[in-house]
Amino acid sequence: MTTTQISDVKALEQQHVLQVYRRQPVVFERGSGMRLFDDKGRAYLDFLSGIGVASLGHAHAGLAKAIAAQAEALLHTSNLYFHPLQGELAGRLSVMTGLDFAFFCNSGTEAVEACLKFARKYWHAKGETSRTKFVAFTHAFHGRTMGSLSVTWDSHYRTPFEPLVPGVTFVDVNGPSASGAIDVINASITKDTAAVIVEPIQGEGGVRPIAPDVAAAVAAACRRTGTLLIADEVQTGSGRTGTFIHSRTIGLEPDLIALGKALGAGVPIGAAMLSRDVASAAAPGDHGTTYGGNLLACRAGLVFLDALDSGLQEAIARVSGHLFAALRGLAARHAGTILDVRGAGLLAGIELNRDATDVVAAALERGLLINRTATTVVRLLPPYIVTERDVDEAMGILDAVLSLSS
Ligand SMILES: *Cc1c(COP(=O)(O)O)cnc(C)c1O
Repeated sequence: MTTTQISDVKALEQQHVLQVYRRQPVVFERGSGMRLFDDKGRAYLDFLSGIGVASLGHAHAGLAKAIAAQAEALLHTSNLYFHPLQGELAGRLSVMTGLDFAFFCNSGTEAVEACLKFARKYWHAKGETSRTKFVAFTHAFHGRTMGSLSVTWDSHYRTPFEPLVPGVTFVDVNGPSASGAIDVINASITKDTAAVIVEPIQGEGGVRPIAPDVAAAVAAACRRTGTLLIADEVQTGSGRTGTFIHSRTIGLEPDLIALGKALGAGVPIGAAMLSRDVASAAAPGDHGTTYGGNLLACRAGLVFLDALDSGLQEAIARVSGHLFAALRGLAARHAGTILDVRGAGLLAGIELNRDATDVVAAALERGLLINRTATTVVRLLPPYIVTERDVDEAMGILDAVLSLSS
């Protein structure tokens, strides 16, 4: 493509693609490993992986081969019939999550919807039909469909679409007083609460880890009142933070877990994982999806889990140590600009003293893909195949970008 054709791409989209995205000025045509290539053949180092999705990097040979083979055999049959891959993937996920049952869908928001619905169904089946409320956290992001949006905090996402699902309470866990937050948790989680939903590290909310005392208070309140705990691990899960499920590392024992993003390595898939107890309340017809868990998506999920098992999970932990050491070094060199570095594994947030838009744009100009979240936070979500050398290259670019503008 020539430069004039880039503006054609933009013009065509402006006429016919709903304008709900603010895209960066680049047209990508192919990828390889950690790199994306634009229409002029220029390479970019990918530290975002399409918002945490391209977990195996781009054009992964094993994934490409498996997808092609699956396309030649069978892609989709619906959930009216059996196929061999859904049970296999569900079994592997139950080992990884400690929750026995999987419901497959096509996105993170659908996985959250399924968790909310199955939590409601659980209490309904027990005859506790008034136990319908949800507790969520300030700064939470759980998706954009009506149910998931109802437990998403940011008013920009919510207000135009109100009224949403009633009975949701938001608990402020990032406020000045941690003990105050714990009082609010204890007051909010009651025998009217169907479920609490929590991201162990809030991703879109600015890469904010849930404080250990808050996690402990949530776990205790759930135990005391019998309330179900939903962990939204769409961003933190599937190995991203160095372990398959992050909530366990902070002492949470979820009854339901939402998965998505990295799980399909680029093929759309979501999964709601349910404990045996919660699953026992579900019956045929309660919920469903046409595409969910089809052969293509399950095959991609199995390739992803195979890769994770053959050394990738250990590699994440190793490279993560290097990444966070480098980020602390960067923060020390730019002490006025960088206020905080947060995250775990290959999910990192760099909190700036100002809007991160310019830093993201300047990094793009220098061939590094990152993004801004919660206005002031630069977020890094590299593919799991990232190496120490890739980290050093990315840190060099970030260092240059921050030197420019501080
Ligand atoms: C991205 C995300 C979602 C929504 O996933 P989609 O695939 O965009 O629907 C939900 N929860 C969390 C924590 C996320 O990061």
